[in-house]
Amino acid sequence: MTKRIDLHMHSLFSDGELLPSELARRALKLDHEVIAITDHVDWSNVDTIPAIQDAIDDINANWDITVVLGAEVTHAPCESIDAIAARAKDLGAKIVVVHGETLNEPVTPGTNRAAVESENVDILGHPGLITKEEAEIALENDIYLEISARKGHCLGNGHVANIAREVGNRLLVDTDTHAPSDLITFDKSYEIALGAGLSHDEAMAAIVDNPRELLKSKGIL
Ligand SMILES: [Zn+2]
Ligand SMILES: [Zn+2]
Repeated sequence: MTKRIDLHMHSLFSDGELLPSELARRALKLDHEVIAITDHVDWSNVDTIPAIQDAIDDINANWDITVVLGAEVTHAPCESIDAIAARAKDLGAKIVVVHGETLNEPVTPGTNRAAVESENVDILGHPGLITKEEAEIALENDIYLEISARKGHCLGNGHVANIAREVGNRLLVDTDTHAPSDLITFDKSYEIALGAGLSHDEAMAAIVDNPRELLKSKGIL
């Protein structure tokens, strides 16, 4: 059976409801192979990222799941996104997500652009009405685009899928989990990919091949 990989999740070290250990435990029970904990950061808290590293090491040593330290640069001024992402990487974040221009929140226009231009960013989360030009820069810079399982953020999924097909971007299906009920099964991630308008092959790339390829590029798988 193919296991799930989810690279966008929050613990209570930002606004999630669960400690890293309970988040990992619940993910393990729903057949996840890898999760990334990507707590929200700006300059106020980016230096606290390593606080969960001991818990991650403990989980990885003892349970049949891999937890990856990440961060999500969230609602920071566009001018600072690259520097905050770089700081997160310096502190040990393996996966840096940028909180993209979701239709659901007043994210600063220019955030998608700043994210795709940063060599320190891996995933542009919920990019809303991303432009073709932004998608082309993301492709050049090996930045993955997110199909979001999250209520509100998912409103742009169909557009993101269309742009990615046209430009050739690699997609991921991530949950942006904050609460236990946000976690999804592999089968649900497939349905969400189809719901975004992806074909079977495109959906399988987004939920199997692309996350594996990203993790391999980080030396994680
Ligand atoms: Zn949040
Ligand atoms: Zn998030």
